[in-house]
Amino acid sequence: MIPFYIETYGCQMNVSDSEVVASLLAGSGYVPCSRWEEARILLINTCSIRENAEKRVMNRLDHFARLKKKNPQLRVGVLGCMATRLKEQLLEHPAVDWVVGPDSYRHLPAMMGSPASAPLQTQLSLTETYADITPYRGREQTVTSFVTIMRGCDNLCAYCIVPYVRGRERSRDPQSIQAEVEALQKDGFKEVTLLGQNVNSYRWKAGEETVSFAGLLERIALAVPNLRIRFTTSHPKDMQDDVLHVMANHHNICKQIHLPVQSGSNAVLAKMNRKYTRETYLDRIRSIRTILPGCGISTDLIAGFCAETEEDHRLTLELMKEVRFDQAFMFQYSQRPNTLAARHYPDDVPEEEKTRRLSEIIALQNRLSLESNRADVGKTMEVLVEGTSKRSEEDLFGRTDTGKVCVFPKGTNRVGDLVHVRITSCTAATLKGDIV
Ligand code: SF4
Repeated sequence: MIPFYIETYGCQMNVSDSEVVASLLAGSGYVPCSRWEEARILLINTCSIRENAEKRVMNRLDHFARLKKKNPQLRVGVLGCMATRLKEQLLEHPAVDWVVGPDSYRHLPAMMGSPASAPLQTQLSLTETYADITPYRGREQTVTSFVTIMRGCDNLCAYCIVPYVRGRERSRDPQSIQAEVEALQKDGFKEVTLLGQNVNSYRWKAGEETVSFAGLLERIALAVPNLRIRFTTSHPKDMQDDVLHVMANHHNICKQIHLPVQSGSNAVLAKMNRKYTRETYLDRIRSIRTILPGCGISTDLIAGFCAETEEDHRLTLELMKEVRFDQAFMFQYSQRPNTLAARHYPDDVPEEEKTRRLSEIIALQNRLSLESNRADVGKTMEVLVEGTSKRSEEDLFGRTDTGKVCVFPKGTNRVGDLVHVRITSCTAATLKGDIV
């Protein structure tokens, strides 16, 4: 059995894809190993969302090239979004033997098995969902897991490279999703996150049967009553009230929604091709807060998109104050090749201005997150124990139903336990408390 190791970069979709790849290889005479030093085959699952992500991968490939000089038997494959974006260019790198895109992983065992096979497979598919593949989940993760419910994206947001490297949207057979989630519950997992670039546009059609995202969510909630359920990522233009009502009707669906807004300015949202306005976004927030009081809401924000003015930036800060997000992922605009924006709009906001606006957004969000956490002090919250705190062996950490990280003294509790924690203090990033 030839040992292989997969190094994964980027989003949860890549984590889930690496588990599919590991399963395909483990079923073809290869064995996964837990340290890259032990591997004869090194696979790197890559991300193209921002320039920095690609730079990190190129540095890693340079390192692998040096390893190959010492160990000529070593073989290296590049998977994921960079594979689709750069294709044969990657084969010019001295470390690289194979380049395989996100829809071509079924080819990998054959490519690795015979030197005569073509080293490049990056064709995007309109149908591939790997629905019949049971992901290989290493022993290191036993509590929470991801299940991909759909692949690709049809939204074509102007700054985003995803549709070009992951292809068109396709939803996975609900029966195969339910079977995978039921297997996770049977294997002792306590929480599952349903994954998609835009889960709200999940739509499975077979004969007379049509399953929407709300329908799928209800089906999964009923099928695994003892499993916590989360989902990501949602798109404001597709976030309908039916999903919110299903969440309200099922205790095991966590009351947490990640709803990327990106900007608070209608001019910028239109240029980004986000297909909603500030007003419709705020309407979605009102619905969430009405149907799911206390629901955790997080978002994504981009500072310095093409032609963004100081007034546009001010509108983003105002929207943040109005919504009062619990958490946010915040970035400055990084132009990606071949995207709508790269083809049509000059990247005209100076870098230092992008950085200044981003730091204002981060400072404001830190204040909002701290206020949101302070409001939880004195409350008792249900937390799923996910591991030992990085700061102290005596403490455990986990996440609340609303998606907040919580740290508390270990006591006699273990990873996988659902505990009740009385919140006694907090920082902007973390709640702290005691088990009750
Ligand atoms: S919804 Fe927009 S930002 Fe999200 S993956 Fe699709 S194109 Fe990219």
